Amino acid sequence: MKPIFDLEPNILPITDGTGFPVRRVWCVGRNYRAHAIEMGTDPDRELPFYFAKPSDSVLPAGSTIAYPPETEDFQHEIELVIAIGVGGADIPVEDAAKHVFGHAVGLDFTRRDLQLAARKAGRPWETGKAFDQCAACGPIVPGSEPLTDGAISLTVNGEARQSSDISLLIWSVAEVVSDLSRYVRLEPGDLIFTGTPEGVGPIGRGDTLHGEIAGLPDLDVTIG
Ligand code: MN
Repeated sequence: MKPIFDLEPNILPITDGTGFPVRRVWCVGRNYRAHAIEMGTDPDRELPFYFAKPSDSVLPAGSTIAYPPETEDFQHEIELVIAIGVGGADIPVEDAAKHVFGHAVGLDFTRRDLQLAARKAGRPWETGKAFDQCAACGPIVPGSEPLTDGAISLTVNGEARQSSDISLLIWSVAEVVSDLSRYVRLEPGDLIFTGTPEGVGPIGRGDTLHGEIAGLPDLDVTIG
């Protein structure tokens, strides 16, 4: 049947000049020990868990992110992003590289007050995590070998806020690809935000954010 209007895919830059159409956006919750502790949870007792963001909510590097409504506590989370290039389900850890297209620097934006209220009430996280313009993703670097180490950091207005290393992920890139693929079939165009290290905090209108992961292009955004 003929659709009544056109929906354009959300296409993010790849470093070779081509574009990566975004299909689904998955995020891992609490994947660094020190962040799990700062969120008041036990880092030793959790299997990875996942939440999702709309595919059109991810903005490219250089964007101005609209300060979202209905929050008094808008926060940054710097994260390594996995881009999936080959689909699969029940992917063994040792086969993860066959499905990874590349990596990028990402920001998972969070209305922390709404997320924590939902968590306390046992309700879904969407209003805290899945709102308009709730993520940013830098240029995707092709390369299927799962990233296993490298410094990850975020500054806000030039001031250091988050600093860690990819080697401190509780669940590695390969393990996340494998584990998530047990729950949903991964397909080309899927992005997986792998979780944030400690140091999350509030941001306000006019703030400039600068994210870095060793070996990947920087991610700069401004809060509008
Ligand atoms: Mn996150």
